[in-house]
Amino acid sequence: MKEKILVTRSSMPDFDEYIDEISDLWETHWLTNMGEKHCILENTLKEYLNVENVSLFSNGHMALELAIQAMNLTGEVITTPFTFASTTHAIVRNGLTPVFCDINAEDYTIDVTKIESLITDKTSAIIPVHVYGNVCNVEEIDRIAKKYDLKVIYDAAHAFGVKYKGKGIAEYGDVSMFSFHATKVFNTIEGGALCFKNPEFGKRVNRLKNFGIRDEEVVDSIGANAKMNEFQAAMGICNLRHVHAEIEKRKKVINRYKKNLGDVLGITILQPQDHVQANYAYFPIVIDDKIFGSTRNEVYNYLKTQNIFSRKYFYPLTNSFDCFHGQFDTNQTPIAVYISKRVLTLPLYADLSFDNIDIVCNAIKKCQK
Ligand SMILES: *Cc1c(COP(=O)(O)O)cnc(C)c1O
Repeated sequence: MKEKILVTRSSMPDFDEYIDEISDLWETHWLTNMGEKHCILENTLKEYLNVENVSLFSNGHMALELAIQAMNLTGEVITTPFTFASTTHAIVRNGLTPVFCDINAEDYTIDVTKIESLITDKTSAIIPVHVYGNVCNVEEIDRIAKKYDLKVIYDAAHAFGVKYKGKGIAEYGDVSMFSFHATKVFNTIEGGALCFKNPEFGKRVNRLKNFGIRDEEVVDSIGANAKMNEFQAAMGICNLRHVHAEIEKRKKVINRYKKNLGDVLGITILQPQDHVQANYAYFPIVIDDKIFGSTRNEVYNYLKTQNIFSRKYFYPLTNSFDCFHGQFDTNQTPIAVYISKRVLTLPLYADLSFDNIDIVCNAIKKCQK
């Protein structure tokens, strides 16, 4: 049997580097609740991400869910269905109604020309997604948010390290959420962070991640438990030392993919965005079966027979999930439906070899008819 080529492989520091980082925990016995590693990682990330405030979380989803709670949003939130379950779930779990805006066909982020027509007197926020690390049209979103007095929370789970016009991506909007899940460009095993400008928001969200505890005798909000522990933070401290090199390696992987697949008829690949320093988080291709001769599902299944594991990322759309049965009309987001049926994200991680990339691409080309 051929070697398996998985869709992703988590970045890890050398074993000795991690052991060295965690060894003093056996002296302090301080394992969680905003310990020393936690503080170091928060401060290092502030610098790396070019932001004023960072708050760490046990995972990205809880960060997003508690960010929404801390903002006291009400009614409706405009978002996109072409994303991971987390984005929509965070809205619904806060008792809010997601209103789905379509994506654009160029970079699959929210179609800003369609936002204003979805705004009602119940709308309180926009939660766009920097999907695949592609930067949303942040200027237009900012203009709309100001005009209608809406909050903006970016799901930046994919966008760690991305810069736009020389600024860290999290400098845009009121709040940005990063995920540090094992499969993301930068990981703390599980983990996540919020970046924000308003220090009052910071105080609220920091209480919410620790049960809403204000001090020893006062619990004044209905919080959850979403604290990052010291082993996660130590993993982050180590991985952050190498993330620049990892992103450079990812760039080489993507360039190899582009060289192989860039001019295959019926396959569309993402184009680089203007003014964006990318993080090369994902390599999605969109397969037009009428031209290519095979459907996305046929390619996905064939790759599997070759021990190559790609992902239908993002399929299904969140507005067609079984748990929302009958609640949303996917006809409202036709481009998201189109892309979702045809997109395939290919194996991508820093150490994916050129040989294996070529094997993946040749297998895909075998499906061409
Ligand atoms: C990974 C991801 C999340 C959630 O992150 P976790 O850290 O896994 O909780 C949220 N949104 C998007 C788009 C993601 O890909």
